[in-house]
Amino acid sequence: MSSLRIQCPKCQAKAELSIDAEAEMILLNCFKCKSPILYFHGETTLVDEVEMGKIQGESMKAIEGFLKTHPNSDEAESFKNNSQTHEVGEPVSDHPISEEDIADLKIDLHYSEDVLDFLKKI
Ligand SMILES: [Zn+2]
Repeated sequence: MSSLRIQCPKCQAKAELSIDAEAEMILLNCFKCKSPILYFHGETTLVDEVEMGKIQGESMKAIEGFLKTHPNSDEAESFKNNSQTHEVGEPVSDHPISEEDIADLKIDLHYSEDVLDFLKKI
């Protein structure tokens, strides 16, 4: 288990993402403003700024993680009070992500028109 600190490029909300495997590329939605965010080698960017071809060409691992809200930020506090549906630190998914799940995500991505279309299927 490793953790990544991610800052949303749009609303600047900070979050710690816990993942159970090394990931080169992660797609997630901002916990606060719900913008689709791409994390790639230490850089975060909004997904709609990224060309689909760049993503399809990469050998990638799509990892579904869970967001652990930043304990010290006001945004995280208000988010917890307003719309938290699970305990901090509790995984969103009740089962570990398998190789099959990752393969399915890759297939979905391949047949999606663009990244937003892909994200809607998740
Ligand atoms: Zn955001």
